[in-house]
Amino acid sequence: MQKSGRDIPAVFVWCARTEVAEGAMTEEEWLACARPEQMFRPMPGGGPARKRRLFAVACCRLVFDWLVDNRSREAVNVAEGFADGAVDFHQLERAYDQAFRALGIVGGEPARAATRVALEHLTDANLSDLVALIARSFGTPDGDEWCGAREFQAVLLRDIFGNPFRPVTFSPDWRRDTAVSLARTMYESRDFSAMPVLADALQDAGCDNDDVLDHSRTPGAHVRGCWVVDSVLGKE
Ligand SMILES: [Zn+2]
Repeated sequence: MQKSGRDIPAVFVWCARTEVAEGAMTEEEWLACARPEQMFRPMPGGGPARKRRLFAVACCRLVFDWLVDNRSREAVNVAEGFADGAVDFHQLERAYDQAFRALGIVGGEPARAATRVALEHLTDANLSDLVALIARSFGTPDGDEWCGAREFQAVLLRDIFGNPFRPVTFSPDWRRDTAVSLARTMYESRDFSAMPVLADALQDAGCDNDDVLDHSRTPGAHVRGCWVVDSVLGKE
């Protein structure tokens, strides 16, 4: 497949083949895991449906520029809107149908992933399929690009769900106007470059939680569904 546009940031292109045994997963294993389909295991119920959808959307946005049919791109956008209740199930269903038609014409892993993101129920099997399709969009299994894509999807998952072994109790007192406005602007624009400014605003409001402040100040991937931004906005 001809590849162009968005590449996985070079810092994440290494081949992490962390093996995790079936069953219980420790916090250390979860933090090091490069197998995103396994990382739902420690989360009650596999995590909130909204966040599962936004994770699928974030993965599809890695190949967004490779979706050559606009119906595939629209499915990603509609799925994102569905996550936040901006569109209803019938619109999601139509978006799936259209993306499926596009897949029949253009084929390929990215277009197939764009159908998965618009499925009504994102089961574990569906999400496993989706992350596999995204990884295969970047390269053949076990190659550096494939491993890098798997690792980066794990990074996105950690950004969205936070560490399930260390849930943070977010104080309402930290939700002052400045922080909420910053968080809302970043969420709507999908530009999260002001995360360190958000950290300062939260600190000014009395936030002293290291997990919140470190996440906001550490360079890395932040996407819609970022657990800190969601916490500021009161989203789950
Ligand atoms: Zn984040």
